[in-house]
Amino acid sequence: MTARTPDGSDASAPGGDGSSADPVVRRTDDWDADRLHELAAEHDTPLYVQDLDRVRENCERLLAAFPDADVRYAVKAHTGRAVLETVREAGLDAECASAGELDRALAAGFGGDRLHYTAVNPPARDLDHVVDVADREPDLTITAGAVDTLDRLAERGYDGRLCLRVNPGVGAGHHEKVRTGAAPKFGVPYDRAARIAREAAGRFDVVGIHAHAGSGIDPDQLDSHRELVSRMGELARELIDAESDGDASARESDPLDLEYVDVGGGFGVPYHEDDEPLDLPAVAEATRDAVGDLPGLALAIEPGRYVVADAGVLLTRVNTVKPTPGGTVVGVDAGMTDLLRPAMYDAYHPIRNLGGADGEPAPADREETAVTVAGPICETGDTFCTNRASARPARGDLLAVGIAGAYGYEMANQYNSRPRPAEVALADGEATVVRRRERLADLTTVERESAEVER
Ligand SMILES: *Cc1c(COP(=O)(O)O)cnc(C)c1O
Repeated sequence: MTARTPDGSDASAPGGDGSSADPVVRRTDDWDADRLHELAAEHDTPLYVQDLDRVRENCERLLAAFPDADVRYAVKAHTGRAVLETVREAGLDAECASAGELDRALAAGFGGDRLHYTAVNPPARDLDHVVDVADREPDLTITAGAVDTLDRLAERGYDGRLCLRVNPGVGAGHHEKVRTGAAPKFGVPYDRAARIAREAAGRFDVVGIHAHAGSGIDPDQLDSHRELVSRMGELARELIDAESDGDASARESDPLDLEYVDVGGGFGVPYHEDDEPLDLPAVAEATRDAVGDLPGLALAIEPGRYVVADAGVLLTRVNTVKPTPGGTVVGVDAGMTDLLRPAMYDAYHPIRNLGGADGEPAPADREETAVTVAGPICETGDTFCTNRASARPARGDLLAVGIAGAYGYEMANQYNSRPRPAEVALADGEATVVRRRERLADLTTVERESAEVER
């Protein structure tokens, strides 16, 4: 469906008012405050709000910047059914990191030819399941990054589509915990990759090579992205053209019939209010340049957060305001169990005070103060920000924690016996509860069921 501006013109067409209908980033300030207040009043807090229209815009922007590439959504950023269906309808494939993600993608209607499963030290149970799925969906592609994993797939009788994950020796990312490109955990070493790929071709239908540098292709990290991509281009050319290989033993092998070179995800989003958004066309051009000529091969990319991050906010209510000599501590009803990224990665999320406290002026009319926004969990790390300049908060205010649509609900957990929050999806402005708020009874479901089994 095409977005329409109020005057009926096509918002996404060149020359239309594309800039306001589909900005390159939706900032936390761009959300309609009244609508967020309504949603919080109706569904209570903490509450995730995910705008499917924005998800679709992000998909369309990626497809426009990479018109000839296979664009695969890294499902782990947000696995909600409504998000997966939106992404599928927009035309992206699904990149799954576990048996559970694969099942979610299947349930959301992705056919085997649009499913990719990337195994990192896959548990036996996952491999059994994925090989079962591949029996029914022979167009599914499995990506493996260790010779052991290839052996384990062969032991299970798998001989289908296979992509080799390569460790390119370069990494990028917003935090060392997500820089995967150079971490030995991921992929086979670059200088052994050609040999391993050729050996694998005797057992599987080797269709691609893959590398993922980590998360955070940012304007200042494009060089390492370029280096990764150019290495992958070189490797692909070596594999499809055995003649050009100087190695005598390799020359005897047939060229591989590769379909694609997958250079991973990690497309950055501007978490800070003053971060520049990624210049996607420039990244696309740099990627095409770096990969070089790929006769007959497609380029593939796997964005996760880029698709969903700025489509989501987490709404939380202020329940305590405590002045201290070290600044004002603002207690809210969401914590690290709802949004783990600040505690886990020191991640920055914008926080917008939407006001709403009884008898208080609008936040814009209050004095500025340094605030530490903290959750209800008994952990020092359970803070969303420390001493950040903000309008003086008051008990009852509603806060929107922004750019929370990726790895937000997805990483939510029940630590401190906290039920997980609710999530509503917006489509054409209509809100639907897509994950109801967990109840206290949900916390003990597994224990109660186990007790029944024992009895
Ligand atoms: C996590 C992951 C991605 C997506 O990373 P983003 O930073 O969300 O874009 C892509 N590919 C693989 C293999 C991943 O593990």
